[in-house]
Amino acid sequence: QRFPVVIVGAGPAGLTVGNILRAAGVDCLVLEAETRAFIERRPRAGVIEEWAVRGLQRRGLADTLLERAQLHSECEFRFAGDRFRFAYGELTGQHHFVYPQPLLVTDLVHEYADTRGGEIRFGVRDVRLHDLETSRPSVSYTDAGTGERQLVECEFVAGCDGARGVSRTVLPHTTHIARHDYGIGWLALLAEAPPSSDCVLFGIHPNGFAGHMARSPEVTRYYLECPPGDDPDNWSHDRIWAELQQRLGADGTPPLTEGPLIEKRVLDMHNYVVEPMTYGRLFLAGDSAHLTAPIAAKGMNLALHDAFLLGDALVAYLGKDDGSGLDGYSQACLRRVWDYQEFSQWLSEIYHGTSSGDEYRAGTTFARLRRLFTSPAAAAAFAEQYLGTAAAY
Ligand code: FAD
Repeated sequence: QRFPVVIVGAGPAGLTVGNILRAAGVDCLVLEAETRAFIERRPRAGVIEEWAVRGLQRRGLADTLLERAQLHSECEFRFAGDRFRFAYGELTGQHHFVYPQPLLVTDLVHEYADTRGGEIRFGVRDVRLHDLETSRPSVSYTDAGTGERQLVECEFVAGCDGARGVSRTVLPHTTHIARHDYGIGWLALLAEAPPSSDCVLFGIHPNGFAGHMARSPEVTRYYLECPPGDDPDNWSHDRIWAELQQRLGADGTPPLTEGPLIEKRVLDMHNYVVEPMTYGRLFLAGDSAHLTAPIAAKGMNLALHDAFLLGDALVAYLGKDDGSGLDGYSQACLRRVWDYQEFSQWLSEIYHGTSSGDEYRAGTTFARLRRLFTSPAAAAAFAEQYLGTAAAY
């Protein structure tokens, strides 16, 4: 078996690369460890920046998203018993699109496999990458149905297999992996309850950060800061809602609408960045190359950015023998990656400074927050970074 490109992982990054290749008539194979039903239901992200939506739209991948996504142009900080609206849409002319990741993945799989005729093998096991430093690499895996090993030869491997995939593990020791651990946990929750506000809410509270993000008219994502490595079972239904009500409470606002919790897991807030994002004929894209804790809701946006660049660069190379996109790929991705890492770090201090138990950090956190609402220049800078418009694309 031979394909010009093998893509490992059918998340937003891998499926977008696959769709770009198929639209240009480049054959490719996607290998995915899970089933189609599983990846179409896996809940995660839900906020996509406008430039990323336009990138999908230009590639014919946003029709359903544009019909169904909610547009957000404001967020609200709640602290010291008060609420402060921040109208970032007015400052940038751009929006966030609220569209749950499983819906985007469903659209991308459908377009790739059912419309553009791309091949995807689900449930593969023990994927291994071979001869990456040659011009004839290959990928082997165990077939889900037969249990037999299969070998696929190719020209390029796109490593889009997320934070726990195989691609990052084959990098040589000359690759740098910069890591940052916030030393903080977040209890990530999905509630079967309608959103309690028409925008994202950030609760800055001495007990810890709390977040509220709409996902759909029936489902809302919430976050609660907690100790890293905390056991989700320490958090009963009643304790969760009491903390959310307290941390997100503000004068003159009705209580949050409560409901059953359908997801409850602890995320340890940490980041990493792989430099360079390439090794021979292997090109990493998305979470396999860089992780940003969901502090600033950036991960899926970065995955899409990589995928646009990688898809276009592979098409240019395979179709027109133009290797400039592939040569500059890692550097072009990393500019936005580091920009978003820095913003996440900055925002993390706003979220977690007041609950750090350190009066000095609490004082500087409030200074940062006040500046957002008193200095037009600070507000404009925040809006640009929040929407990702400052990083060149
Ligand atoms: P993934 O989506 O992880 O896809 C990788 C795929 O590879 C998976 O389907 C996996 O099954 C498959 N795979 C793994 N290993 C192998 C293997 N060995 N062989 C074959 N296949 C393999 N980002 C945002 O932008 N906005 C948000 O609001 C946001 N909220 C988030 C909330 C939570 C709770 C979490 C956990 C993440 C959030 N993110 C958010 C981050 C976002 O979900 C990720 O950045 C995004 O999924 C990355 O896409 P990807 O394609 O790189 O990787």
